[in-house]
Formats: sequence, C-alpha cells, structure tokens
Amino acid sequence: MPLTHPPLPKRCNPVCIGGTSIDTGLTVMSAMMKSCDRLRCLSCDFKCIRFDDAVWDDGLVSYLFFRNFMPDVAKLRKGIKFRKGHVCFCCQCSWCGIGDEAKALSSVAQFEKAKWVCGGH
Ligand SMILES: [Zn+2]
Ligand SMILES: [Zn+2]
Repeated sequence: MPLTHPPLPKRCNPVCIGGTSIDTGLTVMSAMMKSCDRLRCLSCDFKCIRFDDAVWDDGLVSYLFFRNFMPDVAKLRKGIKFRKGHVCFCCQCSWCGIGDEAKALSSVAQFEKAKWVCGGH
C-alpha cells in the first residue's frame, strides 16, 4: 500500500468576504465569491470572528476594545449594532464590516492594514 497523505487544504483565491446573503466557504474564482469562514490574522495570530446582521459601533470599538475582549464573543457583541444583511469581522488587532455584497478582502478599505489570510478549507 502506498503511503497516502491527507489532501492539502485549499485556500481562497482571492480571499473574499460577504454579507449574510453570500454563501460562506472556499472562493476559487473571483466570479464566484464566497465569504471565507476560515479567516485568520497573521499579525495577532487569532482566528477572525464574524457577526451576522451587524456593524461595529464606531463610538464603542477601538484598538483597545479588541485588544482586551478578543476572543470573548459575549464582550465583543457589546460593540455591534444590528444592521440587516451586514456582516462584521474582527481579530485582536483589526476589524471591519461589509454590506450585503461580496468583495475581495484586498478591496475593503478598512482592511488595508490588516493581515488576514484564508486558513484553508
Ligand atoms: Zn477561505
Ligand atoms: Zn489581528
């Protein structure tokens, strides 16, 4: 019997995020964007957390907010406001949101400094 190796994880290319109407999973081409549900941050080494039907409340969240509360979902929830269809994400050092659409992560303005990658599917 030949030695079999588990298949290598597939990574999104491009890495995309989307609102609640966008399927989650692996993106293999930009014409069929899915919202990556395996995001992780290379800067803080946390897996990104996602909140549905929500936007960050700019008056409440800050670098220190995420620094202190990540990855406590109950505490992080205190920084969101309800907004149907929107999705927001965070790691310990970055955060952002998207409306009811799909976009490549690289084109989401708030993400310019974030080092989020697909962790593999
Ligand atoms: Zn992915
Ligand atoms: Zn981070």
